[in-house]
Amino acid sequence: MNFISTRGGECVRGAQAIAQGIAKDGGLFVPEVFPSVSAREMEDMLSMSYAERAATVIHKFLDEYDFEELKAACEKAYAQFEGGDAAPLVKIDAGLYMLELFHGPTCAFKDLALTVLPYLLRKGCDLCGIKEDVLILTATSGDTGKAALEGFKDAPGIKIMVFYPSEGVSKMQKLQMATQEGKNVNVLGVRGNFDTCQSAVKTIFTSDACKEELRKKGYILSSANSINVGRLIPQIAYYFSAYLDLVSSEQIEMGEKVNFAVPTGNFGNILAAYYAMKMGLPVGRLVCASNKNNVLTDFIRTGVYDRRREFYKTMSPSMDILISSNLERLLFELSGREPTRVRVRMEKLASEGHYELYEEERLAVQKLFYADFCGEDETVETIYEFFEEYQYPMDTHTACAMYAAGNYIAEHEKDKAPMVVVSTANPYKFPQDVMYAVTGNDIKDSFKAIKHLNLATAMKVPASLSKLRDKPVRFKETADKDKLYAEVLKFVDKK
Ligand SMILES: *Cc1c(COP(=O)(O)O)cnc(C)c1O
Repeated sequence: MNFISTRGGECVRGAQAIAQGIAKDGGLFVPEVFPSVSAREMEDMLSMSYAERAATVIHKFLDEYDFEELKAACEKAYAQFEGGDAAPLVKIDAGLYMLELFHGPTCAFKDLALTVLPYLLRKGCDLCGIKEDVLILTATSGDTGKAALEGFKDAPGIKIMVFYPSEGVSKMQKLQMATQEGKNVNVLGVRGNFDTCQSAVKTIFTSDACKEELRKKGYILSSANSINVGRLIPQIAYYFSAYLDLVSSEQIEMGEKVNFAVPTGNFGNILAAYYAMKMGLPVGRLVCASNKNNVLTDFIRTGVYDRRREFYKTMSPSMDILISSNLERLLFELSGREPTRVRVRMEKLASEGHYELYEEERLAVQKLFYADFCGEDETVETIYEFFEEYQYPMDTHTACAMYAAGNYIAEHEKDKAPMVVVSTANPYKFPQDVMYAVTGNDIKDSFKAIKHLNLATAMKVPASLSKLRDKPVRFKETADKDKLYAEVLKFVDKK
C-alpha cells in the first residue's frame, strides 16, 4: 500500500514511509486508502492469538512484507509480554472493561508497537534497498524513550538516541532510560519540556543540511515516535483485539458498537482507534482524555486549537504535551484529505500558536469524539475510589481516562455501548503517586513506594522495574535544545 504526506508532497510505499519516519515536506505519512476488514475476516480473527491478529491487521497496510515473516516477528515481539496475552481485556463491571496494555518489557503501551517496529524498520530498509545504517532520533515524554531503547538495543545497523525533558519525566521513567543497556544507544536530557524536545528533533528531521551531513557519515534518519506510521499501525491491532475478545466472551454480538476511552498526549493511541473505525471496527464514541494540559479538550469542544497557554507538570507526565503531533493526521481526514488546508493550519500553529476548524469539521469531530480532562486532585480521587470499589490499582494516566469515561457515561445514559478504558501504564511505573492515591502515604523513595504499594494492593511487581535499583546509571548528561544536533554528531562519531 502507498502512504501519502498530510501536506501533499510525497507518495511512497509503506516500507519507505517507515524507514523515513516523516515526509520530506514536514508532513506525516497516512495510508492512501483505509483497508477494510470484512465480516468474514472478523470471524476468522476470533480464534487467533494476539500476535496473529496483529499480523493480520498490520499486513493490510504493509502488504509488501511477507506475511509469514511478519507473523513470526509479531510472535517473537509479543512473547516478551508477561502473562501470555499482550493486550488482555479485563471486565471490571457491567459494561465496563479495562484494556491492559502494560504487560510488555517497559510496562507501558508503547511496547505494543516498539517491540515490532525494529522488524518493520529493518525489513523496510531492505525492501527499499537502503544501504546506510539507520539513526533513530526520538523525543519522549517518558515512556516512548525506554520502549524504543529496549526495542532497538543492539539491533544491527541501527543507532538510537533518545531525548527527554530533563525535569519532565517521572523518577522511574528517568531511571529506566538512564540505566539502559546496549552498545548502540544514547540518552540525553534536554532543558525544557516535551514540546521543546519534540520540535528540536523535528528541526533536525526536516533540515536538508543535517540529513546530508549524516548521509555522508553513512546514516539515514528515522523516528520511533508516533509520527512514524510504523508506530501507529501496530497500535490499531489492539482495538480490533479488544473488540474480538468482547465478542468471543459473549459480552457483545458481532457488529454491536463499543466505546473506547483513551488517555491522550500526542494523539497517537486514540488516532489508532480512529483508524480502526475507518477500517470498519464498530466504534461508537471515542473519549479523548487529557490531564491538566487540556489543549485537546478545548480543541474538541470548541474547534479552536490554541497552544498559547501555561504548560503544567503533572503526575501523568506522558500526557504533558501542548502540541499533539498526530492531530495533523486527524485534521487531514477532517478536511476531506485536503493537504493545503493542513499545511496552512500547521504553519499557523507554528507561527501564531493557534488555528480553528470550520463549523462542519468541528461538528464531525464532536460526533465521534467526546473530550474531557482530569485535574491533579481528580486523578488522585479516581485512583482511590476505583481501588476502594474494585480493588483494582491503576496508574495516573489511566485514571485520567477512567475519570473522563465516568463523566461520559453519566452524561449519556441512553448510550448502552460497553466502555473499554485503555490502560496505558503499569501503576508501579508511578509508584509514589499511586501509593499516595491508594493509601494517603507520601513515600519519597521509588523503591520503597513500590514495596508498600505491593503490600497495599497485592498486585505483582514487574521484575523489569524492581531490578532497576541495582543497575548502573549510564546516562546523566543534559543539554540545551540548540545543542541537540551537536550531541547527535558526537554520538555518531563515537567509535
Ligand atoms: C505515551 C503515553 C500516553 C499518551 O499516548 P499518545 O499516543 O501520546 O496520545 C498515555 N499514557 C501513557 C502511560 C503513555 O506512555
